[in-house]
Amino acid sequence: MNCSEARSVWMLYVDSEGDPALHLRVTEHLSGCTACAAWFAAQGEMEDGIRACMAAEASDDAMWNRVLAKAGVLPQPGFRPLSLLVIGTTALAAVVLLVLFVGWHWTSWFAEPPTVAQDAADMHRRWLRGDVPLDFASTSELAVDRYFKANAPFKVHCPPRSNVKFTVQGAAILRITDDLKAGFIVGRVDATPVSILVLDRAALSAFPRDKARLSEDAHLHGHDGDLKTAAKIVGDNIVVVVGRSSPKTLETLLDAYGSYH
Ligand SMILES: [Zn+2]
Repeated sequence: MNCSEARSVWMLYVDSEGDPALHLRVTEHLSGCTACAAWFAAQGEMEDGIRACMAAEASDDAMWNRVLAKAGVLPQPGFRPLSLLVIGTTALAAVVLLVLFVGWHWTSWFAEPPTVAQDAADMHRRWLRGDVPLDFASTSELAVDRYFKANAPFKVHCPPRSNVKFTVQGAAILRITDDLKAGFIVGRVDATPVSILVLDRAALSAFPRDKARLSEDAHLHGHDGDLKTAAKIVGDNIVVVVGRSSPKTLETLLDAYGSYH
């Protein structure tokens, strides 16, 4: 399971409505991904706050009025008998909470999906842990190139070669989400493991946070825990290079990708 998948099933995970296998896979992902673990914790805190609010005494006028005042919909007092006002206020408060709840989920679901670099870093960690089986193991760039030509649903270019000190070890085609696949190339620069995640350029629409930041002209550098990332649009691909190597080394690999053919 990757970051995109884990975050997309957050509700099922928290509400225990998902199947046990799914629950296990999310738990496994969280144990190895600090970014998602922090994201899940933040989601959980927000929901706990709303649950506590919902569970509070319904007739606690002061509490509801605080909620309504915060939402900017405090009714004018004294226009109805008190008992009716309490019922009306309570119903209104419930609606306000529902709107806040839905609105908050809406923003958390759509405002903060992982970046392509986070997904790449996650894949890299999983590969290092032995959780990403390679479809194709080879130390030949040309053989890896042929593997992608035969299997990838979009164009994946030739991996970096020994002229930039890269030794390829293998490749796979990974599922990022149900309808999004990525080419995954692994190898080493000297002794340091490095991986390269390659997506179809059209997949940029699935990464709204990257849309404005990724370009053909500049390397987008980032880090994820102890891993460094460099990303760029290369022709018809989005490419992310991940590893503990220096940003300069990652840049060199990124520039070598696709430069052969
Ligand atoms: Zn993650």
